[in-house]
Amino acid sequence: MLPDKFRLQIPGPTPIPPGVQQAMAQPMIGHRDPDCSRMVVDLSRRLGPVFGTKEPVLIFTSSGTAALEAAAVNTLAPGEEAAVVVSGAFGDRFAKILERYGITLHRLDVPWGEACQPEILADFLRKHPQVKAVFLTYCETSTGVLHPIGELATVIRQETEALVIVDGVSCIGGVESRFDEWGLDILVTGSQKALMLPPGLAFAAVSERAWQVIENNPQPRFYLDFKTYRTNLEKETTPYTPAVSLLFGLTEVLQMIETEGFTQVIERHDLMMRMTRAGIRGMGLTLMTSDSDASPTVTSILGGNDWSSEDLRKELRRLSFRVAGGQQHLKGKIFRIGHMGYCDPVDVLSTIATIEVAAKRINAPVRLGAGIQAAEEELIHAPSLNH
Ligand SMILES: *Cc1c(COP(=O)(O)O)cnc(C)c1O
Repeated sequence: MLPDKFRLQIPGPTPIPPGVQQAMAQPMIGHRDPDCSRMVVDLSRRLGPVFGTKEPVLIFTSSGTAALEAAAVNTLAPGEEAAVVVSGAFGDRFAKILERYGITLHRLDVPWGEACQPEILADFLRKHPQVKAVFLTYCETSTGVLHPIGELATVIRQETEALVIVDGVSCIGGVESRFDEWGLDILVTGSQKALMLPPGLAFAAVSERAWQVIENNPQPRFYLDFKTYRTNLEKETTPYTPAVSLLFGLTEVLQMIETEGFTQVIERHDLMMRMTRAGIRGMGLTLMTSDSDASPTVTSILGGNDWSSEDLRKELRRLSFRVAGGQQHLKGKIFRIGHMGYCDPVDVLSTIATIEVAAKRINAPVRLGAGIQAAEEELIHAPSLNH
């Protein structure tokens, strides 16, 4: 096989578009230069529609987890109560961060692979009226579930005064997000998933309600103090040296999203989800999530009794094809396909066909050609192909 050619279909990092790669190769500029100021202000504003907010979006030089940690330290002080919905490895990470900072945690565990039902969250919150914030995961990357964030935010608003804080790292940029309309208070994401950039940037939208809490929160913080980022953004700059090359790349990413149209971007992700699911079902393998709970950005597939998902991953690797494995107790039990960012329906066709080949080679019970046919049917009938 070609030594430099491989397909990266994991749920992050994701492939980088050539135009973005090129943009990132521009000569370095000073981060206090007026050109950099213009770029920072422009990016913060143009990220708004992707989050569904009129608020300026804060930009951090960090991985996604730093933004999760920032959401916690900016809004809560030790001893305060918070609720966290845990339905997989990333909800669990939110819980770990909160515990580390001495927050009194109420953990609502949802079976991995299922979305949180709004009524269940409402019942849970009635038992914990003191919570100051509720932490949710929009797309739980470890299982491929997309939680109904709008509905969950509505019940949180009905039951409590708590802030609604959402980890959107593995889906913002590929799914609908209505930060303002849904009444979210903090929504964070990272650069290396649906936003088609290398790892290294994180973003947060922050509501007016959240700013009031943040301003009165005595918890010390320095690098991740949201206020410093806001004050500096008002002065058209960043508090510390940003990853300037990634900002060049982000400018190109937003240009791409605006050219395709964000509605079309969302439709493309939806179509890729439907093709992936039809393909997996068609070849005879088992999806981990129901259609109604499925994420447009990542799909989890169960291993079988007489074949292992890890053997399948090894076989795929031989074909220069990368998919992800399971996390925590799902390690060795599932594999996950990322279909977000710089990914299109034709990539999904090659994914399904390659999985059929690899599965056949390890004697997994698949029907050769049946998955690819099902995925093709979805594509042939895709309404978005007609405009
Ligand atoms: C990838 C991811 C993160 C952040 O991971 P980093 O490695 O810190 O960038 C957080 N939450 C979710 C849901 C993710 O998918």
